[in-house]
Amino acid sequence: MTDEIFSRDAYQASTDATVTEVRDDGVVLDRTVFYARGGGQPGDTGTLRWEGGEARVADTVKASGEVLHVLEEGTTPPPVGASVTAEIDWERRHTLMRTHTALHALSGIVFTDYGARVTGGNMEPGAARMDFELDGITQEFGREVEQKLNAALQNDHPVHVSFVPRAQALADPDLIRTKVNLIPEAVDPIRVIDIEGLDKQADGGTHVRSTAEVGHVRVVKTESKGKANKRMRIELDDT
Ligand SMILES: [Zn+2]
Repeated sequence: MTDEIFSRDAYQASTDATVTEVRDDGVVLDRTVFYARGGGQPGDTGTLRWEGGEARVADTVKASGEVLHVLEEGTTPPPVGASVTAEIDWERRHTLMRTHTALHALSGIVFTDYGARVTGGNMEPGAARMDFELDGITQEFGREVEQKLNAALQNDHPVHVSFVPRAQALADPDLIRTKVNLIPEAVDPIRVIDIEGLDKQADGGTHVRSTAEVGHVRVVKTESKGKANKRMRIELDDT
């Protein structure tokens, strides 16, 4: 199994690693800083470098439990056993970290202040959408939420990553709200992202250390996706 460094330290942008497997669909390393696509967060892009070669990683995915570094088409992969330096495109990843933390803060605010749960979400660097169990949605609502979200972000809530024993996670009211019981039984401990005082949920993604690092966020669109399903689109202000 690949040691997934990003799950403990989202700020590590590169690592030395050894190639353990080369498949048609990607390269497996013994450890990596590349986040594999999942939970609405895209996979990382970046570069693998080794003596005598270099390859661009176009995407990172998970397949049969392995983190697969998907190389750009036509690229020659490093040989099995090679020592490589694996480095992510840090600016893109950091923007994704800010975007992901903004989404969690948004879901916490909409639940705490309006009682609505999240039904879905997705993100790209600097832009994201989130769907809520709401009966109606208006532009005014969007503006109100935008104000609350930015006020909360500026308050600089610390963001904690922890690995919680499954039994303890299942008993935590905050995590029950986000349906922690639906996580496959084999997953123990469960990784939890806690934005202190704002939002807490089981999550595999990468986040910033504190909410001030997200910066200013705009609610750019509110729309109906059907009964009790309303969508909000957000963007980081600098993109
Ligand atoms: Zn998340």
